[in-house]
Parts: sequence; structure tokens; C-alpha cells
Amino acid sequence: MKPDSAPQTLLDTVDADTMLREVQDWAAINTGTANIEGLAKMAGVLADAFSALPGDVELVDPATVTAISAEGREFEKPHGQHMVLRVRPQAQRRFVLTGHMDTVFPADHPFQEVTWLDDETLNGPGTADMKGGLNVILHALKTFEGMEGADRVGYDVMINADEETGSLASRGLIEELARGKYAALTYEPSALPDGTLAHARGGTGNYSITITGRSAHAGRNPHDGRNAIVAASDLVLRIKALEAGDITVNPAKIEGGAANNVVPDLAILRFNIRPQSTDAMHRFDGELDAILRLIETEHEVGVHRHGGVTRPPKPVDDKAQRLFDLVKACGAELGQTIGWKPTGGVCDGNNIAATGVPVVDTMGVRGGAIHSPDEFMIVPSLRERAALSALVLSKLSTGEYL
Ligand SMILES: [Zn+2]
Repeated sequence: MKPDSAPQTLLDTVDADTMLREVQDWAAINTGTANIEGLAKMAGVLADAFSALPGDVELVDPATVTAISAEGREFEKPHGQHMVLRVRPQAQRRFVLTGHMDTVFPADHPFQEVTWLDDETLNGPGTADMKGGLNVILHALKTFEGMEGADRVGYDVMINADEETGSLASRGLIEELARGKYAALTYEPSALPDGTLAHARGGTGNYSITITGRSAHAGRNPHDGRNAIVAASDLVLRIKALEAGDITVNPAKIEGGAANNVVPDLAILRFNIRPQSTDAMHRFDGELDAILRLIETEHEVGVHRHGGVTRPPKPVDDKAQRLFDLVKACGAELGQTIGWKPTGGVCDGNNIAATGVPVVDTMGVRGGAIHSPDEFMIVPSLRERAALSALVLSKLSTGEYL
């Protein structure tokens, strides 16, 4: 059957039974972000599945990522490989579709099984976030490849292995693949179980500040010491004071310290920021640097800064809004009512938007309770969403809508 954009034909073209079977198989593979073995298995399964599309599949090594230990030492964190499929790279108009294969459930988490809640609802790790979404990408593209105009355009598919910990090992790859693309679609689950999309998003940044003082005896010579905990506490109050209407700051943890009779020479402050605008993000960065220099001189301590903004804020500009409008219009053609709302959450859509490419980042399945053992996927949404994306891609391929 040669599908066209007639709504029922399009929906009928999507092989919903295969989709369901694949999602059940994929959810049964544990892919906690730290489970390198599980991720390798998943990457292999995905590489096989996506080989059904034209183009070349490649597994890409993760970028080097470091973190600061509780002892103040920088160490490397291992990550899984990312999958990339490139189709018709020579085409003038190209898209990027992205998803992640990792979940928040480690290999030793009790939530590993897929079970039915009712005959339309599947409970399981990563069913909604986002193995269902990965499967929607695959079947949307299989459907799209049979549609008029597909051969005029090209696309890249990027499935990373570290989204749930902030895509530190894949953000360079995401930005490289996004740059110059006509539009981007990301397959996080819908913001609400009714299919509502996430619209504008704030950004996020994580920092570890290591403060090195000088230890001394708390009774004999306390004035010879330089107290790292005091310096860290001063820092907490000063960064908290940087909060404004467009940014919040959450000092989360102070590690380090020493015995009660010792002036502590080590403190590590961990904190998170949530800038609502690019302006707030840059402003905070400058202010933080100035405060760190001040802490250094006033407390006579060493200060080392690690981390920063990993997800820039994602405002919705005119072009991105036209992409939202197109998704809504395609939904209407298929009998699906699609709205949107802003959200406090972040995802790879933030990083894509920062390259100036219009993106809708909740094109995945309908579902909910993600990041909890109650996570569920609404099974009929596999077909719905695959047809929706295929239709959106076919309209985008004409170049008339953005
Ligand atoms: Zn996700």
C-alpha cells in the first residue's frame, strides 16, 4: 500500500502490533544511565532496528565527562555510546529527530518489569520516557519513507545514552547534528496524558564549588586556620541572594568538613540554578565569578569552580511557534486535539533550541508518572503519534510551513 496523507490510510499504515511488541522488548532491557552493559545491548538493538531505514547507522563514543568527588577530586564518569542514523545527508532540507535510550532506573532498582494496568495502559520502566518515543521515531520514519516527497529531504536520528543525567556526554553531538537543520523533533512523552505538548522551558545548571582552606587546632591555634565550611556558608548566602524574577538558585549540599576540634580545610558546595532566560543565564555566570573571587580574598581560601549551565533556557520564537502550529494542524487532520503549556522540566530540546533550530520536544507517546515505578504508556498513542510525526515530516518536506 502506498500511503498518502489521507488520515485513516496513514493511521492504518502504522504497524501498531509490531510497535507494542518492540516497546515491551526494549523496556525489558535495563538502561539506567550508569548501566554501561545494558546501554550497549540497547544500542545494538536500536542499531539493528534503525538499519531498516535508508542511510548509515553509527555508534558514537561518549564525550569525556568529569565530576567532583566528596573528597574534592575531579574524576571521569563513564557513559554509554550514542546511536546516530544519517539519511540522505546531501539533501538541502534536513531534519533532526532525537531521543534517549537511558532511563532513571539503575540495574538494581526494583522497577524492571512491564505489566498491564488495563487493556490500553502499560506500566514499565522507560515505556513513556522514552522507549515508546524511540519506537515512535522508528515507525514514523518507516511510514514517512513511503510518502510523497520523502526522497527530497534528509534527516539525522540521534539517540543518546545520557539524557537523564543532563546529556553531558552528548551535548556536543546534539549541537553538531542540530546546526543547520530545518526543524527538530524530540520524542519525550507528552507533558500530560492527553497529549499536551511542552512549550517554553526554563534552563538548568549544576555547579560544584570546591573550597580549600587551611586546617588548624580548634583550641590551640584556630586563627592560623582558614575555615572552608565558613567560606562555603558565606558563598551559599551570597548566591542565594542572586535570585530574581527570572532565576532561582538552590544550594543543595555542603560536603567536606572535619572533626569538631579541627578547623576544616575542605568544603564542596553543590547547587542548581534555573534561569528562565538567556539573559538571566549570562548574568548569573558573571555574578558568580565575582562572588567566587570575593570569597577567595575575604576568606583566604582556594576556590575551584566545576560545572555550569547544561540546558540553556528554551524560549519559543516565531519559527518554533509555527512548528507548534503545524503539529496542532496535523493533529486535527488525524482527529487528535493537541495543545501545549510551558513547563519547568528540561530536556535535549533545550540544547537544540539554543542552536536556533525550531523544535517540538514532546512528540513521543502519551503517558505519565515518569521517573517513578508508576510510569505508564497509553498504548494506542504509539500509532497516533507515529502517524502524527509522519504527517508533520511530510508537510515539513515541502518547505512551506516554517
Ligand atoms: Zn526523557
